[in-house]
Formats: sequence, C-alpha cells, structure tokens
Amino acid sequence: MPDDERLEALRDHFEQILTVHDQLTEQLETAQERRRSLQEQLDRTKRENAALKSSSLYIATVEDVIDDEVVVKQHGNNQEVLTDVSPQLLDRLEAGDRVAVNDSFGIQQILDAETDARAQSMEIEESPAVGYEDIGGIDEQVREVREAVEQPLAQPELFEEVGIDPPSGVLLYGPPGTGKTMLAKAVANQTDATFIKMAGSELVRKFIGEGSRLVRDLFEMAREREPAIIFIDEIDAIAAKRTESKTSGDAEVQRTMMQLLSEMDGFEPRGEVRIIAATNRFDMLDSAILRPGRFDRLIEVPEPDGDGRQQIFRIHTRGMSVGDDVDFEALAEETEGYSGAEVESVATEAGMFAIRDDRTDIRMVDFENAIEKIEDDGSDVISSAGYFYQ
Ligand code: ATP
Repeated sequence: MPDDERLEALRDHFEQILTVHDQLTEQLETAQERRRSLQEQLDRTKRENAALKSSSLYIATVEDVIDDEVVVKQHGNNQEVLTDVSPQLLDRLEAGDRVAVNDSFGIQQILDAETDARAQSMEIEESPAVGYEDIGGIDEQVREVREAVEQPLAQPELFEEVGIDPPSGVLLYGPPGTGKTMLAKAVANQTDATFIKMAGSELVRKFIGEGSRLVRDLFEMAREREPAIIFIDEIDAIAAKRTESKTSGDAEVQRTMMQLLSEMDGFEPRGEVRIIAATNRFDMLDSAILRPGRFDRLIEVPEPDGDGRQQIFRIHTRGMSVGDDVDFEALAEETEGYSGAEVESVATEAGMFAIRDDRTDIRMVDFENAIEKIEDDGSDVISSAGYFYQ
C-alpha cells in the first residue's frame, strides 16, 4: 500500500477511535451519575432502616433520686419504676425532670422544657409560695374559695357523710389584678396541692390546632399529680358565647371548649383535683360553662375598697422599713379605683424613690411621688375601665 493511502487509513482509524472514546466518556459519565444516585438511595434506605430498627422512647417524669437510682413514672400509664442511671446523667437529674426512657426504663435523654408543648402551655408549681395572709381586702372571697375548694380537698369525708358533691369548678370573676391568681395559688399552698395554670388566651393564640389536646393533657397531668388545683386563667378566651361567624379559628376554639366541658363532666367530684377558673369578661362567657356540675360556684372578686387597699399596702410593705410618717389610711384614700396589682406597684415604686434618694427607709413623700408617677404614666393605672365584668 502506498504511503499516502496508509496515512489516510490510519487517519480514519484515529478518527474512529476518537469517536469511540467520546462515546465511552459519555457512557462513563452516565454510569457515574447513576452510581451517585444509587449511593444516595442506599444512604436514605440505610437511615430509614436504622430508624425502623431503633425502638421508640417513652416519656416519663423523674419522681425521686435515691443515691445512684431514680424513680421514674411513665406518662400515660403512671407506672412507677426504680431504675439505674449512668453517673453522667445522674448529676444532671432532679425530681420533676422529664426524661425519655426505653423499653427497659433506661433513661436515654433528659428532655428540656422546650420539647414539651405541655410544659410550654402550662405553669406548674409544686406548692406556690402564697398564703392567705398575703391577700388583702377580699376576706369574704377567700372564705368562699376555701369552703368550695379547700374543704373538699382537706376533708372529703365531710362531704361524703353529708352526702353532697362539692362544686366541681369555681369561677372567679372581676377586674384584672385583684388577686384571683393569688387566691388559687394560696389554696394550692394550703392543701399541699400542685398548682397547674393554663392561660386560655395563650391556648388560643400560641397552640392553634392543639387546644383540645392540651386541655386533655391538662386534666391528665392534674390526675398524675394529685392533689392538684387546675387554674384556667382568662377562660373567656376558650369559653366565649358562640358567635355567628364560622371561621376555622372559631371552630377550633369551640373544640377546645367542648373538650373542657367533657373533661369537667367526666370529673370525679370527690377526687383530689379541683378546678378554678378566672375571667375579667364574665359577660362574654357561654352559659354552657356555667351549668350545674361545671363552674357552678361563681365568686366575684371586686376591686378593693379603702380598707382593702390599706391592707394591701400593709402586705406589700411588710418587708420594707417604712417611716413613721407613712399614713396608710391617707394612701388608701388617694388610690381610689386602684387594683391590688396597682397598689403593689405604688409600693415598689415608692421603694425606688427612696433608693434614688440614697435612703433605705421609705417615707410618705416616696409614696406620694410614686402615686404621681403612676398617674402620669397612665399606663399602669388601667383600672377596670377597659374591661367589662359583671
Ligand atoms: P388577672 O385577671 O390580670 O390575671 P388577677 O386578679 O389574677 O389578675 P393576680 O395575678 O392575683 O391578679 O395579682 C397580681 C399581683 O397583684 C399579685 O402578684 C399581687 O402582688 C398583687 N395583688 C393583687 N390583688 C391583691 C390582693 N388582694 N392582695 C395583695 N396583693 C394583691
């Protein structure tokens, strides 16, 4: 073969090889791509497999820590178990902590409060530090609440003997800052009951879609921690009169209220859980909530009168060194229309004035300045003007 033909044939061959090379490179890239996607699938399946193999954990509460063992109580079935804990966990565990346990009750994890919607929506105090002596000007209301809530808890046999069921729920109504929450806390303290507070407005605002579940949880938690006082603040947010509007938000509030009604209906009247609710808007309440067997004991907590304000001044200045010139009667007169919370802020503000003046004793002039400041700010003195109550 002549040289130029051979050269031509070699060139053709070279070009064919180049084409084959291109084709193979392309195939290689496709194969690599496929490999990558298969690898991803494999990883995903591995993760799913691991998740399926790992057993789910149960939620429990630490009841007691004894040396290197703890007593945990599983939520739901209330089983109490004594279990060993690793030394690392032991140092961080305290009674009342929520933990995740496995099938054999080994503590796997300490849950922080954030993990728990229940804890977020409720405020729980084992025994609140409020006594009846801290509440001024509403002696009659204190007496009524003690009779309706404290006595059934402290002397259930009395009710049994007489053959009557104590009221299931007590509703406190009146303007803000008059001591409704304090009253509920004081009863819990007096009866060594756990105080569990849930705010109706938060339930509606923050936990959309979860309202009825949280109400169920609230009662369940109270039963777990008997004796307990359930305090539902701003109950009007979940138990307002049914309106004509049919928005989904209303339907959700309705469901929450239905859950509350059914929990109250299924309530053991002589059990060790009592319910106190509070509202500033008595006029808004749905009558269903006020039927017998529900909140059938209504107690109005009014704004304090002159004597009441005097008492509240004395209560909130108990820990202060008050000068001889301080005239509580005159102060009570000057603070006509103030709620208990507002009287408290006058006392605190008076203390601030004394500090500003480099004194530790508080004089009449400090109280007068405090009242002036609060009147000027305006914001502190809400009185009952913006609220409706009956
Ligand atoms: P709200 O309707 O806004 O929830 P409330 O009626 O529950 O108000 P509390 O939370 O009990 O009011 O009161 C707020 C604070 O005001 C209390 O922590 C307390 O310091 C003070 N206070 C209110 N009322 C009284 C009172 N009668 N005696 C003493 N302190 C009071």
